[in-house]
Amino acid sequence: MRFDYVALPSRVLFGAGRLANIADEVRKLGGTRAFVVTTPGHRALGERIASLLEDAAAIVHPHAVMHTPVEVTERALAALETARADCIVAAGGGSTIGLAKALALRTDLPQVAVPTTYAGSEVTTMVGETSGGVKRTQRSPKVLPEVVIYDVELTLSLPAALSATSGMNAIAHAVESLYAPDTNPIAELMAEEAIGALARSLPRIATDPHDDDARTHAQYGAWLCGTCMAMTMGLHHKICHVLGGAFDLPHAQTHAVMLPHVIAYNFAAAPEAMRRIARALHGPDAVSGIAALAASLPIARSLEALGMPASGIERAGELATRDAYPNPRPIERAAIAAMLERAWHGLPAAE
Ligand code: NAD
Repeated sequence: MRFDYVALPSRVLFGAGRLANIADEVRKLGGTRAFVVTTPGHRALGERIASLLEDAAAIVHPHAVMHTPVEVTERALAALETARADCIVAAGGGSTIGLAKALALRTDLPQVAVPTTYAGSEVTTMVGETSGGVKRTQRSPKVLPEVVIYDVELTLSLPAALSATSGMNAIAHAVESLYAPDTNPIAELMAEEAIGALARSLPRIATDPHDDDARTHAQYGAWLCGTCMAMTMGLHHKICHVLGGAFDLPHAQTHAVMLPHVIAYNFAAAPEAMRRIARALHGPDAVSGIAALAASLPIARSLEALGMPASGIERAGELATRDAYPNPRPIERAAIAAMLERAWHGLPAAE
């Protein structure tokens, strides 16, 4: 056995009601004036956090949007500087956390993240930013939130469909970490545990979005999935990045449609990863296991349903083969086009 293992520093508070700890956490980071970032739909949560912070609250900035456009970040940066904030709090999904990370990249201020979806961005050193219609991703230790508060109560309002797609987005991080060139035994343990926790809880959430126990296990799985993103991501993340950028497809939904297809594409080339995925999903094999999970969830089945034009298949195939990410099965143009064709029509995944 031979591997490198790097643990990213982050303090994690997990459990129902943990948002109550936020003032303490901000104080421990030395924060005296917090800039609270969220989306317009989550303004009330931002204001609730500001009231919990009492004297340490600077301003609530409810203007985060999908894909972290640079213009939105620049406006937020000006507001942060005017407020003379010395700490950032992000309360929301990956879009909100993306804005907080973009601010931390420019200011190196400490961050407390309070995630409300299963995207996992709060435990990664990655930040994607959009400028001129192109989204670019970079890694920097500056953007990793110092503290993460996982309070399950904040996820209860996430609609069933968004919970399902966000959960599949999380599973995709764990799946790709299992066949990453830099995987290691610790990452493998976390990935298998994470896939199992989400596979058991997501169908229960689809039936009852207020099931506390299922929500708790999904959030636990999502945290572990996020930590798996420290590994090098492969074909799945590349394709979703291409589809999101070129056709403005929604992030989590695109992950949910593509995941079974990419697992099938890589099936023969990554037998150990596939054995672990099958075991976590309690399926006879990884391909039928992920298909059964997807069938139990309220998610779109096809790229067509997400609004991708049929004429885009060829272009997506070409873009996916350019600057390809490391992947167990070689990226073959014709095979990728065939996979995208199946995904566009919503056909079952095939090797
Ligand atoms: P999102 O943050 O855009 O949220 C989707 C919608 O759900 C928004 O309208 C939001 O207000 C709403 N919402 C969020 N939580 C809710 C809740 N608990 N109840 C009700 N509504 C809620 O979606 P996302 O999928 O979490 O994040 C996607 C973004 O995150 C993408 O830009 C993606 O690139 C980025 N991302 C980055 C990383 C990273 O490591 N850098 C990892 C994963 C995702």
